[in-house]
Amino acid sequence: MAKILIVDDSMTSKKFLRTMLERAGCEIIGEASDGQEGIDKYKELKPDVVTMDITMPIKNGIEALQEIMQYDSNAKVVMVTAAGQNTNMVEALKLGAADFIQKPFEIDQISAVIKKVLDE
Ligand SMILES: [Mg+2]
Repeated sequence: MAKILIVDDSMTSKKFLRTMLERAGCEIIGEASDGQEGIDKYKELKPDVVTMDITMPIKNGIEALQEIMQYDSNAKVVMVTAAGQNTNMVEALKLGAADFIQKPFEIDQISAVIKKVLDE
C-alpha cells in the first residue's frame, strides 16, 4: 500500500485528496499545511509519494519540491494544480516533479497518476 504525504494549505483540498487517495487504496501517513512543513514531514516520514499543492504560505509548492528533490533525488512528488498554472507546471517538471493531479479532483485520474508514479 502506497504511503502518501499530503501537502496543501486548504482544509477542503486536503480532505478531498485524503478521501480519494484512500479510496484508491493508498495510506495517508501525514499531512502538512505549508511548504516548509511539507519538507520537514517528508524527512520525518519518508512517504512513497507526496501530493504537493502549489500556492501555499511560508514556502510554496515549487520551493518545497526543489528542497525535497535536493534532499532525495528519488522523491516522487506529484504536483496538485489548478487550471491556468501552466508556467508552474513547466517549472515543476524541470525541478523533477513526477507528475500532476489537476483540480477538480477525479478519482480515476488520481488512481492512474499514483499507480504510474509508483511503477516508474
Ligand atoms: Mg493552496
